[in-house]
Amino acid sequence: MTAPVVKGYCPGALRPMMSGDGLVVRVRPFNGRLRRAQADGIATLAAAHGNGLIDLSSRGNLQIRGVREDSLAALITGLGAMSLVDADAEIESRRNVLVTPFWQTGEETEGFAAALTEALAQPDAPRVPGKFGFAVDTGRAPVLQTASADIRLERDAGGGLILVADGFDKGKPVASGTVVAEAMALARWFVEMRGDHSRMAALLAGVLRCPAGSSYRVSVRITCRDPAIPRWGRWSALPLDNWRSRHWQVLPSRGLRMTPWRMLLVESARKLPKVRGVITDPDDPLLRVVACTGAPRCAQGLAKTRSVARSLAPHVPPGSLLHMSGCAKGCAHARPAPLTVTATRDGFDLIRQGRACDAPEATSSLPKTLSRRSECPTATSPMARRFTASPLPRSGRRRRWRVSRPRKRSSRCA
Ligand code: SF4
Repeated sequence: MTAPVVKGYCPGALRPMMSGDGLVVRVRPFNGRLRRAQADGIATLAAAHGNGLIDLSSRGNLQIRGVREDSLAALITGLGAMSLVDADAEIESRRNVLVTPFWQTGEETEGFAAALTEALAQPDAPRVPGKFGFAVDTGRAPVLQTASADIRLERDAGGGLILVADGFDKGKPVASGTVVAEAMALARWFVEMRGDHSRMAALLAGVLRCPAGSSYRVSVRITCRDPAIPRWGRWSALPLDNWRSRHWQVLPSRGLRMTPWRMLLVESARKLPKVRGVITDPDDPLLRVVACTGAPRCAQGLAKTRSVARSLAPHVPPGSLLHMSGCAKGCAHARPAPLTVTATRDGFDLIRQGRACDAPEATSSLPKTLSRRSECPTATSPMARRFTASPLPRSGRRRRWRVSRPRKRSSRCA
């Protein structure tokens, strides 16, 4: 199999990336929030200069898709007029700051995120790799623990601030006045020590231990219905993230909060209007599948992803997740998922508890087979035992699947 092309950087507004449907221009809303006027402005710009599609990324960013090269300058000017562009491409690339969507004006979280953003824009900021990121997760309960980040700011069980290097289950206690300086020091340490590694967890894996005096992280699993989540907004999502500019314009809000779950939190909304296709129920099965852009919009896509994911969604039990990837790169979900289906040149790989690039436990050439064989394992699901016993179809369907054993680390993983 041909390995996917690793471009070594994430697209930005100032450094867009060419894809199958034109340029991808990624906008990183400051503090993970768009004011109403900014949201309206983005919708207008996406329709005028792109193909009208707006993706939400797994890091809480927006991607304006299908931008024409001759329209790029006007688009950037428009984004700049709304204060949505950094001073230069290098600063933009460093500013990977994911913020809990539940911060309130005046709370510490807002200040930490703003101060971290400012520190990353300084000339002496550590030159972290493009995929390296920070999570400011200092609300009442952490909600970003499964989202991609390398340096995390959280609270311990007593409510004290801790700075966590991703991969550790403990963090260093820090004072609110020094938290940003400590985060920068940890980032500098990473840059000095990283060698070939681009992510913190990979550097730390099996090598170092937490410093003495570290506090344990609070480990929680928050769902959209959790009472711990403030009720000052409403969730809004589109099946498999097919946001179009017109959808943004009908959401009634003072502002929109970005999340890494491909959902928007619509501020101050008590009720959302019924808009065809927009999901407002956090229990909708379509929210249990994630899919990348896939073919033909992504030039590397080896199959259409979203139609396959849509057909598999009803088979995914609550609390589980299915990741449908157009190639082994796994852009939509960089971490292991309970079940991953990766498109290949020959069909589809079925991977359990792994990433899109991991070695498959079975392969199939027929997308139709997937919809019959898509049970995701969960600890409590009655399907778990069946799936754990064998990830393969039973009897009559076996001929459609080829067993890949023994399972090895795949060379497709970087
Ligand atoms: S994972 Fe999906 S979006 Fe990423 S390169 Fe492959 S096909 Fe494209």
